Amino acid sequence: MQFDSASSTPDELVARAAQLREEINSANRLYYVENAPELDDAEWDARMQELLALEAAHPNLHSNDSPTQRVGAPPAAGFDEVVHPIPMLSLGNVFDEDGFLAWYKRALDFLELDSAPMVCELKIDGLALAITYRNGVMEQAATRGDGESGEDVTANVRTIRSVPLKLEGESGTIPPVIELRGEVFLPNSKFTTLNTERETVGLPAYVNPRNSASGSLRQLDSSETAKRPLDMFFYSIGYVEGPEEISSHWDTLQAIKGWGGRTNEWTREVSTVEEVMAFIAKTGEQRESLDYGIDGVVIKIDSLALQHRLGFVGRDPRWAIAYKFPAEQAETTLKAIHVNVGRTGALTPWAELEPVMVGGVTVGRATLHNKDEIDRKDFREGDRVVIQRAGDVIPQVVEVSSKNKRSSDSKPYVFPDACPSCGSETAQSEDEAVTRCVNGACPAQFERLLEHFASRVAMDIEGLGERVSQDLPRLGFVSNIADIYRLHERREDLLELDKMGKTRVDNLLKGIEASRSQPLPNLLFALGITGIGSESAEWLSRRFRNLSAVKEATEEELLAIDGIGLVLATTLVEYFAIEQNRKLIGDLIELGINPIDETLEPSADHPANGVTFVVTGRLETMSRSEAQNLIKMLGGKATGSVTGKTEYLLAGAEAGSKLEKAQRLNVHVITESEFIAFMDDGIVPVSPDLGSSDEEENAPLLS
Ligand SMILES: [Zn+2]
Repeated sequence: MQFDSASSTPDELVARAAQLREEINSANRLYYVENAPELDDAEWDARMQELLALEAAHPNLHSNDSPTQRVGAPPAAGFDEVVHPIPMLSLGNVFDEDGFLAWYKRALDFLELDSAPMVCELKIDGLALAITYRNGVMEQAATRGDGESGEDVTANVRTIRSVPLKLEGESGTIPPVIELRGEVFLPNSKFTTLNTERETVGLPAYVNPRNSASGSLRQLDSSETAKRPLDMFFYSIGYVEGPEEISSHWDTLQAIKGWGGRTNEWTREVSTVEEVMAFIAKTGEQRESLDYGIDGVVIKIDSLALQHRLGFVGRDPRWAIAYKFPAEQAETTLKAIHVNVGRTGALTPWAELEPVMVGGVTVGRATLHNKDEIDRKDFREGDRVVIQRAGDVIPQVVEVSSKNKRSSDSKPYVFPDACPSCGSETAQSEDEAVTRCVNGACPAQFERLLEHFASRVAMDIEGLGERVSQDLPRLGFVSNIADIYRLHERREDLLELDKMGKTRVDNLLKGIEASRSQPLPNLLFALGITGIGSESAEWLSRRFRNLSAVKEATEEELLAIDGIGLVLATTLVEYFAIEQNRKLIGDLIELGINPIDETLEPSADHPANGVTFVVTGRLETMSRSEAQNLIKMLGGKATGSVTGKTEYLLAGAEAGSKLEKAQRLNVHVITESEFIAFMDDGIVPVSPDLGSSDEEENAPLLS
């Protein structure tokens, strides 16, 4: 169907917005909740673009439950506190069959029953959330916090695609106010990718998926959260206003599912102890193959009436219990605490341990995360500690196991207030738990930078690994990056070193020589500028084409690049304002390290730069996405719907409503071959109707 917002009545606009929202929501649900995509990416994107345009043009159409809200809102100043109307529970734990049997028997004795149907579900290792819906529309999302009150993370939770912004169902079937609870998690498969990205831009890696889910959910800038592929399983109803017709936990889950909330497919109704134990055994076996961490199984009495009768002991419900899987943990001695200085100056504490086996691997080092973690858990040298390994994740020190048995001379660990490498002062920024050495000339930072510069994804210099990156500066061969390219002049001196034989010296020099032909994005990434990952290095390279131009880039020019925000633009401008860095760039260029990006004609000069296109129909030589990429690479805009601002409509075969609309709005319709000539050779298609072009209207009136 075609829709023309310009000539529509307000009612038609409202209806169109509602229709688009429903189509997008339904597609999201099929994709994220039921794993059965309905729209392809281009179709989805087209609807989203149309809806965004519609809402932008008609602010009265704005709605908090619109899927457009998922792209994230501007940064929040902090998080407001939310008091939970009903406290969010903790669960009692059992660790074996006997423990489970004892819990079950106590419940049955309490109820004076012989048996009670139960529900078994996976205990997801994520972050508990409570989401309140008013009249079916998501109103607020809060973290568990201490159970009594948590943080308002509504804007961030809106970006999680498996969380319904609006509950589905006939009116009357959804209570006027209902709070749904569940667990947010980051899929394991996305965890590694996220960490790799963080490390390349100089941010500390997350320790485990749970930690990264928490970090993602607590981003002050929800558009950051929107980039993280968080997911959620719902598992219960909290506060509710209105008639309560649901009588069992199982039915609760079915109701949530019916409203569009994702529930975990492993959940089972069971009626005997044997079934419970079989469920636990099976999930224990499957644990490693799941795409999310679980640390056990939760068993709940199914009947809500029985749950109500059972009530609570303290804060633990009598009607539910967590059967915890044994963690891969071990106890050992924390021999010493050391502090590493990273490339960006981050001081990272780590524990030297008495080597011990954990989960089949000998562990002699473990992370202590940061200063706050050490303070909070009061780790001290000489302590007996519990360490833990989960999957491929770096071993970590969990807690002190000997606090009561410490000798009288045990002293709290004092985190160095100066850099352990250069002795300069350190700073701890407000929004992150990282302590940094602020000395730009810190030797440890430089050694790491050298290592990074030479790494495979950067300049790929064979022979310049961790050891050589330390030795060269320490022995006075290299004091800045450019010195690497002067090393060949000192071959004789290098040969005199005991450490390096002739072969190694020559291989190193050969590796350095070969790196001269690395492309510009690699060089930009290799410089180790905070925030510049391989992707942003590509963008800079495309836009500026050479090192000198990047060096002179203004904040305004940087901000015009898709994907570069204010923080990154400021960092770059600041980096290139420092005299030492300007000299480094100059030296590199002088030494011949000056790659030119010739991927395509400079986009700023290309006639497609700044021009708005819409692509529709089936193309012969490329996909619509490829055509859109081409437009973007040349600095043009590729939007999803035809509006008065559209300059060209590229119409392939079977172009439908967009073509009709373009014709009505006098948008210049071009063929695929005209498009290719435009993109490849810069030949601007000749307008069939020169009389009404903007240039004419804006031309000065000559008498
Ligand atoms: Zn330092």
